[in-house]
Amino acid sequence: MKEKPDAQHPATLDECRRCDLWRNATQPVGGQGARHVKLMLVGEQPGDQEDLAGKPFVGPAGALLDDALEAAGIDRREVYVTNAVKHFKWELRGKRRMHKTPAQKEVAACHYWLEAELESVAPVVVVALGATALKSVLQNSSAALKDYMDQPVERNGRWIVATYHPAYALRLPDSEARAAARQAIVDALLEAKRFL
Ligand code: SF4
Repeated sequence: MKEKPDAQHPATLDECRRCDLWRNATQPVGGQGARHVKLMLVGEQPGDQEDLAGKPFVGPAGALLDDALEAAGIDRREVYVTNAVKHFKWELRGKRRMHKTPAQKEVAACHYWLEAELESVAPVVVVALGATALKSVLQNSSAALKDYMDQPVERNGRWIVATYHPAYALRLPDSEARAAARQAIVDALLEAKRFL
């Protein structure tokens, strides 16, 4: 008999109360893309624009990601894009809702949904964009991005490739560092392509 949904096993993202992030967000932002694609990209959490649109990677970081995908020769329609955390965590600075890094307990709570996506999409390769995504994908709260950059690892029969989050590249103060971070993302996507 099918288990009845409960607080720890919500049936839909809209019903989810596994952590408190739903309280201040406009809506949950689930993954987007065709089912059963071979490549999944995982970011941290929706940003301001994603929260309003209800879609992942549609803001400035999404534009950089699209650009990196194009540079790597990957069609976004053949990729499943999601986040480790499905509600936008923010704090008000002036009139702007500014991104706030999710706490480990929130990442752990939301892994419930990422696990469901991994099961249903069953990708061959997962690109973890940034440290939060990496920790969630590896289920290791002490995983450090620097230890996995340029060193893909195999977990549960799939390859995990780690790189920067596009928002990190956008935040870098000088143009040379921004270009280097963008290139690292392109290189990671090219690496991921080799496993397909
Ligand atoms: S962030 Fe994730 S775990 Fe927390 S309420 Fe939203 S969907 Fe549920």
